[in-house]
Amino acid sequence: MNIAQANLRTLVLNADMQPLSWAPLSVCSWQDAIVAVVQNRVIQVKTYDDIVIRTSSRTFEVPSVVALKRYRKRRKVAFTRYHLFLRDEFACQYCGRRLPAKELTFDHVIPRSKGGRSAWLNIVACCGEDNLRKGSKTPEQAGLKLLRQPFEPSPFQLDSIAKRLAPYTEDLHQTWLDFLYWDSELAT
Ligand SMILES: [Zn+2]
Repeated sequence: MNIAQANLRTLVLNADMQPLSWAPLSVCSWQDAIVAVVQNRVIQVKTYDDIVIRTSSRTFEVPSVVALKRYRKRRKVAFTRYHLFLRDEFACQYCGRRLPAKELTFDHVIPRSKGGRSAWLNIVACCGEDNLRKGSKTPEQAGLKLLRQPFEPSPFQLDSIAKRLAPYTEDLHQTWLDFLYWDSELAT
């Protein structure tokens, strides 16, 4: 096993053969995947070709895709910076410009100084200029208008946004593609 192989990751699917999560994509180390296969917690769906791990007593294939045996119910989306940017599709919610995460900031729609909370329904992604213009005013006072009302996203809503933005296309292993894009339109 060389260094490149040491960094191999395994895609983790739910029992319905959909990724457990898209945002971020559910992957684990191949070591964890082998342990889960041996412990019978997951089904080995695909393996990396030509790679085997030999111990003194056994030989293991390296799983590239595994699936949980029991369906795991999706929980509420954690209120994190990444999830919030993802909900807003990395776009300022006042001017609509899509920006890299490092150029985006957060805006409290109802400012904290006016009792606005740090919660899904009161925080939006915002560009630096609009954030400056808004300051501690309400959108009306600052002459700004939200492009849409902020909402608490479900795991499925975030998945579909992540899938649409497809930030992962670079490092997806060939054996993963069937499970990530199986419902996308076939090229003709
Ligand atoms: Zn803006």
